[in-house]
Amino acid sequence: MQEYRISHNDLPPEGKVFFVVEPAVWTTPLREFHIDCRIDVPLKARIHVFPADNGWLVRGTLQGRIIVPCSRCAEDAVVPIDAHFENFEAISDQDENAFPPVDNETDACVVWEGNVPMLDLAAVCWEEFVLALPVTPLCREDCKGLCATCGANLNEESCTCKNEVDDPRMAKLRGLIVHNG
Ligand SMILES: [Zn+2]
Ligand SMILES: [Zn+2]
Repeated sequence: MQEYRISHNDLPPEGKVFFVVEPAVWTTPLREFHIDCRIDVPLKARIHVFPADNGWLVRGTLQGRIIVPCSRCAEDAVVPIDAHFENFEAISDQDENAFPPVDNETDACVVWEGNVPMLDLAAVCWEEFVLALPVTPLCREDCKGLCATCGANLNEESCTCKNEVDDPRMAKLRGLIVHNG
């Protein structure tokens, strides 16, 4: 994978726009973290980086489309990604004599090359991607999910299981049976 590290020396005072489109920027960490996610429409990031005294202001967009398992039925859920972000990536204060910095809490987007802090645009792209992931992706708005008893995909078939947990009388009865058993 190409390196996407930039230092303050790479930037004019008014900042500069970078484009990141290399799939490996996302597919490498997806594999590394064993995340079940396929890229459907290639992701592309446009990032305007402004230099600041103690870091960088990054402002940009991330667009594309991914396929992840539906949170109810585990079938494919197609999810458009259209994120707009603006962050400050800070260079943390550190002991001038200690490289790499002692402070491990430093932002993963800022890396040190010798005594030069560099902004890692690939890390920015990954961070924004993770933030853009839906918490409960759905294959469709009204996904019926799986039957809790037999596992049938209720979008495709109906089953004869009696999942009547919503009926308080039935729940009570089941409780009694469990107690007696
Ligand atoms: Zn579903
Ligand atoms: Zn069933």
